[in-house]
Amino acid sequence: MTEIERYAAPTSLDEALGILQQGEVRILAGGTDLMPQSKAGRLALGPTLMNIRRVPELKGVALDGDAIRIGALTTITELLADPLVRQHLPVLAEACDHFASDQIRNAGTIGGNIGNASPAGDTLVPLIVLDAVVELASKPNGSVATRRMPLAEFFTGPGRTKRAANELLTAVRIPLPRAGHVARFYKFGTRPALDISAISIGIAGVVRDGALTDTRVAFGAVAPTPVRAPRTEAALEGKRLDAATIAAAANAARDEVAPIDDVRATAWYRKELIHNMTKRMLDHVAQA
Ligand SMILES: Cc1cc2nc3c(=O)[nH]c(=O)nc-3n(C[C@H](O)[C@H](O)[C@H](O)COP(=O)(O)OP(=O)(O)OC[C@H]3O[C@@H](n4cnc5c(N)ncnc54)[C@H](O)[C@@H]3O)c2cc1C
Repeated sequence: MTEIERYAAPTSLDEALGILQQGEVRILAGGTDLMPQSKAGRLALGPTLMNIRRVPELKGVALDGDAIRIGALTTITELLADPLVRQHLPVLAEACDHFASDQIRNAGTIGGNIGNASPAGDTLVPLIVLDAVVELASKPNGSVATRRMPLAEFFTGPGRTKRAANELLTAVRIPLPRAGHVARFYKFGTRPALDISAISIGIAGVVRDGALTDTRVAFGAVAPTPVRAPRTEAALEGKRLDAATIAAAANAARDEVAPIDDVRATAWYRKELIHNMTKRMLDHVAQA
């Protein structure tokens, strides 16, 4: 395991990106994933450990044009209390309300939840159905370069993303939901919070003349990454949420996922949960 040879605590984005450019840097935000993983011997904190908590550009939630920009360092507690999140993105607040304990929520950040790239990360499924885009910054030639990518395309496997080694996740941007937008999140674990999801489901869309359009469905903990569910989306798109549509979508959801057996649930149980909870969530949307 590589020892820590250098500890850096930059106080600006420019400084942080300069350090990242030197290579072999482990980024530390709240540490709620990093520290347990390091203690368990699953990852090395060195040779350079960079604590980003003093970088002001990574903080805060703000309206930016037609999007809400959430700085990577925003904690789960801050998300829960934020007026923009509560007003425009209640499904994200709902997910945060089922996230760990107060202690973990106070330290854990949205950037860390994304950076950890767990298929069961609780902010990921709601962010995907909200069409979130990640913002990445680097300083390859002495000046800051940024790029954006849909969160749904960012994950490549458990703990793996398309972030380059010299890039910092600076923020996540979510388009302001339009009139008629609905979104729901459901997490199943053995306990309502304080537990890693056995499965999670996000459903969103715009209700127009009684039909669901711009449909987004995503699942957590049923694949190596959180995933969108195109066949379930197609079963719903443009349709009235009547009993037949809901039954067809729930069946499509069960057929579409290919989960594994693990300590939290068997594959069969996960598929049944996906079916039953997709149906229940759509019933709720139809009754709203
Ligand atoms: C007891 C306990 C309960 C938990 N319960 C839940 C739960 O209910 N739901 C859930 O989803 N998670 C849970 N977690 C996991 C963890 O708390 C979250 O994933 C949290 O959001 C991680 O944020 P952090 O700031 O602590 O990340 P860190 O541990 O600091 O970092 C996590 C990873 O992201 C990288 N990273 C962090 N910030 C950036 C950045 N800006 N740019 C690029 N890479 C970055 C780090 O290098 C590291 O690889 C739990 C953890 C514990 C210990």
